[in-house]
Amino acid sequence: MEEDLIQKKALLILGGPVRLPKGFEFPYRVSHSTAGPGAGYGSAVFAFGYHRVKKTISYDDGEFELVVGENGYSLTRNGEPFLENVELRPVVFHSPEQAFFNLDPRCMYHCAYCTSPLLPKDEFKGLTDERIVSLVKDARSVQKVVSVSLTSGVVGSVDSTVDRFVSCVSALRKEFPDMPIGIEPYVATEEHLRRLKDAGATEIKLNLESPDREIFEKVCPELDYDGIWHLLQLAVKIFGKGMVSSNIIFGMGETDEEIEKCFRKLCSMGVVPTLRALRFNSMNRENLEKAIGEQEKMTPERVISLAKMQKRIMEEYGLTTLNLHTMCIECTCCDLVPFRDL
Ligand code: SF4
Ligand code: SF4
Repeated sequence: MEEDLIQKKALLILGGPVRLPKGFEFPYRVSHSTAGPGAGYGSAVFAFGYHRVKKTISYDDGEFELVVGENGYSLTRNGEPFLENVELRPVVFHSPEQAFFNLDPRCMYHCAYCTSPLLPKDEFKGLTDERIVSLVKDARSVQKVVSVSLTSGVVGSVDSTVDRFVSCVSALRKEFPDMPIGIEPYVATEEHLRRLKDAGATEIKLNLESPDREIFEKVCPELDYDGIWHLLQLAVKIFGKGMVSSNIIFGMGETDEEIEKCFRKLCSMGVVPTLRALRFNSMNRENLEKAIGEQEKMTPERVISLAKMQKRIMEEYGLTTLNLHTMCIECTCCDLVPFRDL
C-alpha cells in the first residue's frame, strides 16, 4: 500500500495539472507562487496518507481531475480512477503550515530552469519586513505555522540581497524568538553566512543545482560552482551539521552515479542533499533547450530510486531531514523527501 502511494506521489510530482469540476470553489485561498515549480500559476495542496503534493489547478484541462464524492475527494488520471481519500489542505503562504516568502522574484542572473525572474513585473509583491512580520502574526492567530522561510532572487548585488535577508530575518527573530527560520540566499563570503546566522536564521540552503560542473556551467552561467562548494563547507561550520541543505536538480543530463558521488560528498561534509526533478514548462522550455538540449522524459521509477538512494546515503552519514523544519524539506509538496515520504 505504502509503495503504491509513493508511486502515485511520483506520478503526481511529474504529471500535469489537476482539473477542477466546473463551478468548484476551492475551500482555501489558492496559492500564486513566485518561486518553485509552480511559479506563476494558481496551485493547491492535495494530501493523501503521509504525503502531500502541490499541483497547478485549472478549470479547463489537466492530467488529473478532482472528483467530489459523497464521502470526500478523490483523483482520476486521464479519466481512470487514481487516488482515493484525498484531502485539500490550506497553505499559510506558498506552503502548507509554513510561511514561505519570496523577498524579490527579480534576479540579475539567468539560470535556465528558473522562471522567477520571467514572471510579469506585477508579480513582485514589494514585501517589506514589517509586512512579512505582520502577515506571519496574523496567520499564526488563525492556523498552525511551523516556520518561516525566505528565498529571493539576486537584485542589485549579492551584498545588497544579503542585507535584505539579514534585515528581514532580524525583524522576524525579534518578533518570534523560537520560530525556525530558513533561508535560501545566494551568498559569496563567510561574512555573509555569519551575518545571516547572527540575525537569527536557523537553517540555510545553498544550492549546488547539478552534480556535474559542465551542466551547472550551462544552466547557471553566471554562478560560481567551486564557490558554492566552499561556502557549503563554511555554512556547516556556522549553522551546524545537518542544518545546511543543498538542492540538486536532476533530469538535466547527469547520471545516477554522478548524483550518488555528489550526495556522498555533501553528506560527508554534514550537508543534507535535496533533490528536485527538472520540470520543463512554457516559461523555461526555450532557455533550457538552448542550454542543455531536449532531455529524456523523466520516469517515476527514477524519482523513486534516487529518493531511496538519497535516504540510504543520508543514513550512512547519520543525517536526517527530521531536524529541519523549513523550506522544501518541511513542505514535501514537490519531492519524495527521505524520512518523511519514504
Ligand atoms: S540565482 Fe538563478 S535560480 Fe536563483 S533566482 Fe536568480 S536566476 Fe533564479
Ligand atoms: S516543496 Fe518547495 S517549491 Fe514545492 S511548494 Fe513546497 S516550498 Fe514550494
